[in-house]
Amino acid sequence: MQELNGKRALVTGGSRGIGAAIAIALADKGADVALTYERSAERATEVIAAIKQKGRKGVAIHADSADPAAIQRSVDGAANALGGLDILVNNAAIARYNSIAEFTVEDIDALLAVNVRGPVLATKAAIPHLQAGARIINIGSGGADRIVGASGTVYYMTKSALQSFTRGLAQELGPRDITVNLVQPGSTNTEMNPEDGEFADFQRSLIPLGRFGQPEDVAAAVAFLATPAARQITGAILNIDGGALT
Ligand code: NAP
Repeated sequence: MQELNGKRALVTGGSRGIGAAIAIALADKGADVALTYERSAERATEVIAAIKQKGRKGVAIHADSADPAAIQRSVDGAANALGGLDILVNNAAIARYNSIAEFTVEDIDALLAVNVRGPVLATKAAIPHLQAGARIINIGSGGADRIVGASGTVYYMTKSALQSFTRGLAQELGPRDITVNLVQPGSTNTEMNPEDGEFADFQRSLIPLGRFGQPEDVAAAVAFLATPAARQITGAILNIDGGALT
């Protein structure tokens, strides 16, 4: 018997990177998994194929996290396709880097829409589907606590918002026995932040373990928080960063 047998999960932004690894880790533990994607339809199909190969249900839903109607449709669609919803992972995000002087209104609005309003609206849409024992896991960033480069200020600001959101929601949903936690990756090898990218050596110099994380390192923590063993953990912030914040 696997720990997540019979559980139904939705991972936003599950077509690539950390979100894809989370979707697969949840399926590994026995969950049926829906994921959203925006641009990477083919990659999403590959992740679904991997989930199905494990004998689990997998559903890819096209939904732009900047679009409130699409978010509502994707959450209801996931619950319909899987027969309910027990786990929501708010992972989809974008990063844009620039000095504040050069930041445009469009940049600011895009970051706020996808990284802040998106998780709030996905959660709002998910709550009516969730029962006691359900899990909400938000994906933040270690950059919310330690700015790694000033050009990331607005992106990190959006990730700081998820700290308050997580803590407040843990209070609101605690009486319903629904846990809410925040996982903050540090430098993790994805297309957003490749381990051989321009600033990778600088980032490695800040990490006691001396290496980037891999998407599977973050996914393992998320999958644990989804299990019954984590039932007493809520309102927590867990850094998966090789010690970068120590
Ligand atoms: P990534 O490689 O850029 O992947 C981003 C994922 O989000 C993709 O599946 C993408 O889907 C989806 N996405 C982006 N915009 C979307 C939108 N508007 N609507 C729906 N889906 C959207 O990023 P990652 O590195 O895996 O990051 C995953 C999470 O970890 C994010 O919350 C990020 O902020 C956080 N994080 C990452 C790092 C790092 O070093 N990598 C560090 C700290 C925190 P499509 O391709 O289909 O559009």
